[in-house]
Amino acid sequence: MPLNEFEAIAQYFARLTPGGTGVNLGVGDDCALLQATPGHQLAISIDTLVAGRHFPESAKPYDIATRAFTVSLSDLAAMGAQPRWFTLALTLPEMNTQWLKAFSRGLADMADLYQCALVGGDTTKGPLTITLQVHGELPNGLALKRSGAKVGDAIYLSGPVGDGACALAAIMGDLSCSREQNHYLHQRFYAPEPQIALGRQILTQAHSAIDISDGLLADLNHIAKASGVGMQLQLNELPLSSTLKALASQEQALQWALRGGDDYQLAFTGPGNLGVGYCIGRVVDGAGVECFRGDECVELGSSLGYQHF
Ligand code: ADP
Ligand code: MG
Repeated sequence: MPLNEFEAIAQYFARLTPGGTGVNLGVGDDCALLQATPGHQLAISIDTLVAGRHFPESAKPYDIATRAFTVSLSDLAAMGAQPRWFTLALTLPEMNTQWLKAFSRGLADMADLYQCALVGGDTTKGPLTITLQVHGELPNGLALKRSGAKVGDAIYLSGPVGDGACALAAIMGDLSCSREQNHYLHQRFYAPEPQIALGRQILTQAHSAIDISDGLLADLNHIAKASGVGMQLQLNELPLSSTLKALASQEQALQWALRGGDDYQLAFTGPGNLGVGYCIGRVVDGAGVECFRGDECVELGSSLGYQHF
C-alpha cells in the first residue's frame, strides 16, 4: 500500500523536530510555534531546488537533501546568523518510500550537524521540487549586509572558489577524475559546508558579506552596488583547490573561480587585519569589480555569472 501524504509526513519528517530549542510546537498542527531569543532578530531565507535545473535528475535522494539544506543555510551564514529552524515544501512525482527514507536521512544528518530543527512544511504532487525556508537568529542590529562595504576595506574569501563549477562538470561526466578527486568534488557539490561559524566569528568586525552562489564576480558586484563602492580583485590571490588546479587548465580554473558559482564560500569586507580567510583585494572609490594582476588591470568579458532569466 502506498503511503498517503499524512503517513509519509508522520513517518519521515515529524521525527526531525527535536524536542529542544525554542520549538513550542513543531510538525503536526496548522502552524509551528517558535520561541525567539529576546534581543535577537529573525533572519529568514528561502531557496527552491528544481530537479534537472539545480541538481541532475539522476541525483540520489540523500544528496539532494544535503544540497538543499547546505545551500539554504549558506544564506544564514552570509548574514552571520545562527540557524534555528526550517520548513520544507516538498513536491514529489510519487510517494516512494525508499526515496523518502534516504531523503529524510540526508535532512536529519544535516539538521543534527547544524542544530536546526524541521518545524513544518507542505507536501504536494508534481515534478520533483524542494523548497527550504530557513530561520536563523542574530543579535539585534548586527547582521552582515551587502550594503556595508567601506572604501579602504580589504576583501576576503572564506575558502577556495571554482570547485562548484568543476564539480558540476565532473558530475555531468565532462571530466575524468580519480576516485579521490571524484569524492572531493561530489562533496563540494552535494554538501558544501555552510560557513556558519565564520559568519558568526566576523559578525562584529566585518562590514559586509555575501555567499558565493552565482559566481565570485557577480556576487562581489552585488556588494559593490549595494555599498556604492568599487572593488579591485587580485587574481593571483584567489584561493584554488589542488583538485581544481589538477583538473582544469589555468584559464578554465580562473573562469570557474570567477563566474562558476555554486561555491558557497563567504566573501566579506572589513579592516585589513581581520586575520581570517584569504585577502583577495580591496574596496575602492568607484563602481563595479575590476581584476588585477599586481598593478596591471586585466580585461574580462561581460558575462558576470549565473542568471536564471
Ligand atoms: P494544512 O492543510 O493545515 O496546511 P498539511 O496537511 O499541509 O496542513 O500539513 C500537516 C502538518 O504537517 C503541518 O504541521 C505541516 O507543517 C506538516 N508538514 C506537511 N508537509 C511537511 C513536510 N514535507 N515536512 C515537514 N512537515 C510537513
Ligand atoms: Mg499544507
